[in-house]
Amino acid sequence: MAQLQSYTGGCQCGKVRYQVQVDLSGPVISCNCSMCGRSGTLLTFVPASQFTLLSGEDALTDYQFNKHVIHHLFCSTCGIKSFARGKDKSGADTVSINTRCLDGVDVQKLNVVAFDGRSR
Ligand SMILES: [Zn+2]
Repeated sequence: MAQLQSYTGGCQCGKVRYQVQVDLSGPVISCNCSMCGRSGTLLTFVPASQFTLLSGEDALTDYQFNKHVIHHLFCSTCGIKSFARGKDKSGADTVSINTRCLDGVDVQKLNVVAFDGRSR
C-alpha cells in the first residue's frame, strides 16, 4: 500500500529546498558503496514527477563516479547531499531522496534496509 505524503526537505544552509511526494512506510536504503557508506545517506527513490526543486539549482554541484548514471548533487555552500538524480532500469527519470534531509522526519523510525552497493 503506497502512502504518498508530501514532504519538504533540503540542505543544511537552506539554499537547496525541495518538495517531494514519497511513501516512507516502505524500506529506505542504507547502502555501503563508496559514496553512501561515507556520507551515511538513507535513500528512498521516487519518480522525477513526484519531486519539485523549489530553490537552489544554481547552488548544486554535480558529482559522478563509477558508471556515471547517477548525478550526486550536493550544495556547494554547506556540502549536504540532500538528493540525487538518475534513471531507473527502464530509463525513467528517478530522484533518490536522502531521507535524513526531510523536514520533520525521524529517521530512527524508518524501515532501514541494508543494500550491498559496494559489491555491485
Ligand atoms: Zn547548503
